[in-house]
Amino acid sequence: MPHWTTLIRDVPDFPQPGILFKDITPVLADARGLAGAIADLALPWRDAELDAVVGVEARGFILGAALAHELGVGFVPVRKPGKLPAHTLALDYGLEYGRDRLEIHADALPPDARVIVVDDVLATGGTLKAAIHLVEQQGAQVAGASVLVELAFLEARATWPHAAPLHASAVF
Ligand code: AMP
Repeated sequence: MPHWTTLIRDVPDFPQPGILFKDITPVLADARGLAGAIADLALPWRDAELDAVVGVEARGFILGAALAHELGVGFVPVRKPGKLPAHTLALDYGLEYGRDRLEIHADALPPDARVIVVDDVLATGGTLKAAIHLVEQQGAQVAGASVLVELAFLEARATWPHAAPLHASAVF
């Protein structure tokens, strides 16, 4: 496992009983940890000729923007409902603990854009799948997805519907 994974903090019963929350804020707060995490996220995509990184609210913004900068491409946010000011596309999806909806600006990506979708933690996979569908609805091409942490016991990878690769920097 990469050195920065020791900085991930397990918080039991957050945001509700039975959930072991993987808190990445200590990774972000540590200079070596942050640099290592972003370098590891970037590793599979250095020669991928991407046009943009799409990040999912909220921790996907932090990682996605840093990753986009590292790769020399732009960043596009996928947000919770009602946050984006211009015309949006929306998708409902299931979460490990509840249901939610994601939105993206309808004109955020040109139809031929080649992008990756980034989030902090892959749990059930519902969030990443919804974000990928939103991007595909716009005619953009999803080259793959990257997460910092994969929770393997939830087996999101087993039902991964995309040919595009899913990369996880750390697996628990
Ligand atoms: P899912 O859609 O089930 O893959 O959930 C992924 C989203 O929920 C990500 O945006 C994570 O930030 C958050 N999440 C879900 N489960 C956890 C967990 N156990 N620890 C930290 N974040 C989680």
